[in-house]
Amino acid sequence: MSEETCYFHSQTQAAAICTDCKKPVCELCLKTVNAEPYCEACAANHYEQSPMLAFLFAFFVPGLGQVYNGDWQKGLVIFLTGWLILPWIYGIFDAVTVANEIRIGVRKSATVPPGYLLLALKLGFLPFACVYFCGVFVLFTAIAGLVKLLLRLG
Ligand SMILES: [Zn+2]
Ligand SMILES: [Zn+2]
Repeated sequence: MSEETCYFHSQTQAAAICTDCKKPVCELCLKTVNAEPYCEACAANHYEQSPMLAFLFAFFVPGLGQVYNGDWQKGLVIFLTGWLILPWIYGIFDAVTVANEIRIGVRKSATVPPGYLLLALKLGFLPFACVYFCGVFVLFTAIAGLVKLLLRLG
């Protein structure tokens, strides 16, 4: 790397190689996202993983923090079992831990959400939380009604 010069500044020595396009970049062109070096153009396609956002998503909708971290399967499991409370609490801790690990480069996210998905998550998580908790409420009401009915019959 010592001999290589920046792809954009032929007079300046390269400081790193872009993770995506493999172009050498100097200190000035280097953009670091989630502890990975990128050129300016490629950095625009990546988003710094935020433990704060992961916490918000996971807190308001069980499993959504995992989706944010790129783990759809775990997110779905927590989404379906979140009303049992314990998976929900686990999901909040997991989302924050994993988001932080991605941010500092300890862990790679399989699929970091692209910009439009990130925007959808930010705009949609509160309405989605309402739908989720209304759903859980309806479920519990239905179960309670069923139990009452069974008791009356029995
Ligand atoms: Zn690049
Ligand atoms: Zn440069």
